[in-house]
Amino acid sequence: MAESKRDYYEVLGVDKNADDSAIKKAYRALAKKYHPDANPNNPDAEKKFKEAGEAYAVLSDPEKRRQYDQFGHAAFDGGAGAGAGGFGGFGGFSSFDFGGDDIFGDLFGGMFGGGGTGRTARNGPMKGANVGVTVRLTFEEAVFGCKREVKINYKDECPTCHGSGAKAGTSPTTCPKCNGKGQIRYSQQTIFGTMQNVKTCPDCGGSGKIIKDKCPDCHGNGYVQTKKNFEVNIPAGVDNGMSVRVAGGGEPGTNGGPRGDLLVEVLVSPHPIFKRQDTNIYSTVPISFTKAALGGSVRVKTVDGEVDVSVKAGTQTDSRVRLKGKGVPSLRNKNVRGDHYITLVVSVPTKLTREQKVALEAFDTAMNK
Ligand SMILES: [Zn+2]
Ligand SMILES: [Zn+2]
Repeated sequence: MAESKRDYYEVLGVDKNADDSAIKKAYRALAKKYHPDANPNNPDAEKKFKEAGEAYAVLSDPEKRRQYDQFGHAAFDGGAGAGAGGFGGFGGFSSFDFGGDDIFGDLFGGMFGGGGTGRTARNGPMKGANVGVTVRLTFEEAVFGCKREVKINYKDECPTCHGSGAKAGTSPTTCPKCNGKGQIRYSQQTIFGTMQNVKTCPDCGGSGKIIKDKCPDCHGNGYVQTKKNFEVNIPAGVDNGMSVRVAGGGEPGTNGGPRGDLLVEVLVSPHPIFKRQDTNIYSTVPISFTKAALGGSVRVKTVDGEVDVSVKAGTQTDSRVRLKGKGVPSLRNKNVRGDHYITLVVSVPTKLTREQKVALEAFDTAMNK
């Protein structure tokens, strides 16, 4: 099935060595030529438009382009194939996001609705927005994982009107301005000529429905907001700035789309002794001058508690000792742990008693014999 696909460079009509601006330029030209709004009821144009979008999605992304150059279409075979429909629905390209790319923003104005918010004005099911929240963890909580309760404002379907927004006994009527489509087409003069443009219907806000008698409990928006607690499992090994996704914890979808997700961003407080890099932990341990010279044992704090570490005779300052497996668990497998590296720093005594001075002078004399 993937075999019938045309080469992406061929699709865009560019050379294999084309630079980013040449690729963008080629794509703009094709997108303009084959855009569905400029070619109504033309499945061939629609196919070409999608094909160009898919090629551009790959060739404009350095990493994807590298993979494509190396493996061809096979690089993206997972789940790709027929049935790719709708914007962003190109098989396998889940990360392809028109909203994040201004290529249409400056070309077609508000064609995709929502002016750069990434929301299309189309009336199909749409996933709800994600909701973000941050939690602060101690160093050890991040290392070993923990549970956290987070309280968020949770939008839910209004129980009185079941989401319709209409008062009991009434129901929403089809918006006469857009005939229920939720969007309005209009012609616009652009530098490319007259373009058929689409914008969100101002009367119904894109829902396609008008509510005459609003539900008193939700004021017609169909949602009620409550506080909701989520217990979030923070996995062992999580690091500062990472987010834990709780599926379905976001805002409700529209037109039957799924809820968005709750994204719990983790902020890890610094530790007074330990520093962390990926799965390794680092700390500094002072040892006395005599212990460094004679050797011995030193108590060292680790995230598993204190351990005894042996110090070799003749240890120099800034010597590093590895405590294997005393680091941070890997996020992929918490049974695999990094290491804890300690740096032994020799402390030179700053105040000496007369007796100590005499002993050191005797030592010095012995060293110089
Ligand atoms: Zn209601
Ligand atoms: Zn309308």
